[in-house]
This record gives sequence, structure tokens and C-alpha cells, in this order.
Amino acid sequence: MARAAAIGYRLSAAVPSSLFPVPSFPVPSLLTASTLIYLEPRLTVLARPAFAEPSHLPVNWLGDSTDGERLAEFAGRLCYMSQRNPANRTTRDYLENIKKQGHGSVLEHANYSVLIEGVSRSLTHELVRHRAGWAYSQLSQRYVDESVADFVMPPAIIGDDALETAWKSQVESAQKSYVTLVEELMQRYSWVADKVHRRKMAREAARAVLPNATETKIVATGNVRAWRTMLELRSSEGAEMEIRRFAITALRLMQQEAPAMFSDFEIYLAEDRKEAARLGYHKI
Ligand SMILES: Cc1cc2nc3c(=O)[nH]c(=O)nc-3n(C[C@H](O)[C@H](O)[C@H](O)COP(=O)(O)OP(=O)(O)OC[C@H]3O[C@@H](n4cnc5c(N)ncnc54)[C@H](O)[C@@H]3O)c2cc1C
Repeated sequence: MARAAAIGYRLSAAVPSSLFPVPSFPVPSLLTASTLIYLEPRLTVLARPAFAEPSHLPVNWLGDSTDGERLAEFAGRLCYMSQRNPANRTTRDYLENIKKQGHGSVLEHANYSVLIEGVSRSLTHELVRHRAGWAYSQLSQRYVDESVADFVMPPAIIGDDALETAWKSQVESAQKSYVTLVEELMQRYSWVADKVHRRKMAREAARAVLPNATETKIVATGNVRAWRTMLELRSSEGAEMEIRRFAITALRLMQQEAPAMFSDFEIYLAEDRKEAARLGYHKI
């Protein structure tokens, strides 16, 4: 598999696989052989709506739809008690009209939870600024040992050998400092009897030297209105490149999950030769 098409690669040359191909550069000595350098994010849908239609209020459904789309249509139709579907609209047409009318609160009923991996701490710092309609749970650097951390290469660096080497050398040095600091802090606070607490004290201080590029994992749950607002801001050309790449991946995922609710987003190749997206209905 070509490097650009992979999620990332391990520094180890010992375990080649199609997901983590062998790197084409010398392996730095201090990053462990199993360190993964992410070249793109990995998104997995954890939860999606399961619509349960009430038998006493059946809707005359037309056309294809997913549970999330039906949930939103059901909620919208309840407002006018139009379950009979007098205009003979397909779910996709109905939701198109909802977006056009700016009736975005109807989309708030459909929530999607996504496991996000292979993203940097700087990306999640930006992501969690999106508050309304969102819930987050992120890997804790105070509890989790980062001496075996993985890293995310900034998109602008990928493909330039000299920049990649310089970046990896800095990452390597930061990780070395982290490991040393944890060891020394464990010694310094050896009088703390509770070992779990002592480790936490060491890790929470040592993480200060880890780079923004340190890989993190986060579960994000958002309703469709919130997803749309976040994707509008983060898939645009003005967004930072890593979160923009993430937003494009997330947009494609949402377009599969609930096509009618994201059909007005259009992905295109921007002048900077990276993908961006624009949309038909701004902040509904
Ligand atoms: C390209 C770009 C550059 C950025 N640069 C910076 C920067 O330099 N510094 C920085 O600090 N941030 C920056 N941000 C983050 C930005 O300021 C927002 O925090 C982020 O985009 C989340 O937007 P939001 O508040 O609209 O989203 P959400 O919190 O998800 O809110 C969605 C919408 O709900 C409504 N809403 C939410 N909370 C409230 C509230 N408390 N009161 C009233 N209405 C509310 C608003 O209409 C809001 O737009 C940047 C964002 C982008 C996209």
C-alpha cells in the first residue's frame, strides 16, 4: 500500500502490514519500534439512532432512509401532525426542506457517537471548543503512560523528507525527556506511599514536555445540528489543516450515516491542493 493511502506506519521494520507499511527512512533510535506515526485520522462510529416508530402514530414513509433520518422526520412531522405525508415527500425531500427552512432543531434528535483516533492533542484542543450539542471523553495523559505514545505528523510536513526527519528528531527528543522526567519524578516522590498517585504526579508533570503532535483518542457524541456546525467551520479552507482533514473524513462518514442531513455539503479540491467543503445551508 502506498504510504499516502495508509492511516500511518510503525517505526518497526519487523512487523510490516498493509495498514502500517514499513517506513522509507532510517528508524530513529529512541522512539520505540512500535511507535505509530499517524498520517491520517481513524474514525469509527460507535452509536447511531435506532428509531422505534410508535404504532399509534405511523408515518407514511416514502423513499430510502436511515434511522437517524426517520427520527428527524418523525419529530418534524409531529409539529404539524402531518404523518399522512399529504405532499407525498420522500424522507430525503422532507429533510431537504427542513434544512431550507432553517428548522435545524429537528436535526438535534439524531445523535452520532464516533471514536476518533490518530489525531493530535492540538486537534482535540480545537475540537472541544464546539460546545452546543456535544459530549466528549478523552484519553487522560495523567493516567495513561505516554512513554509509548504515538504521534501525528502534520499534513504540511508529510512527503518532505528533510522536514519529516527534522520533525521526527524533535518528537524523539521530547519523548526521551518525558521518559526521563517520569523516572526522576517517581524517585523524587518516592515517599508517596500510593504508587498510583505517585505515577499520576509524575505523568501529569512530565507530559508538559510532550509535543502537540502526541496522538490522542477521544469519543465525541454530537447531534446532527452540532455536527453540521462543527463541519462547516472545520472543513472550510480557513481551518487548520489537520482538523480540516479530520472534518472531511467525518463529513464522508456522516454522509453515509444520514445522507439527507448532510447532502448540501460539497467536497472539493481547494487551491492549496487539499480537500475542503462548502455547504448549501449555513448554520441551520
Ligand atoms: C478557522 C478558525 C480559527 C479559530 N481561531 C481561534 C483563535 O485564534 N482563538 C480562539 O480562542 N478560538 C479560535 N477558534 C475557535 C472559535 O472561536 C470557536 O470557539 C469554535 O469555532 C467553536 O465555535 P462555536 O462557539 O460557534 O461552537 P459551539 O460552541 O458548538 O456553538 C455553536 C453555536 O451555538 C451558539 N452558542 C454556543 N454557546 C453559546 C453561548 N454561550 N452563548 C450564546 N450562543 C452560544 C452559537 O450560535 C454558536 O455558534 C477558531 C475557529 C476556527 C474555525
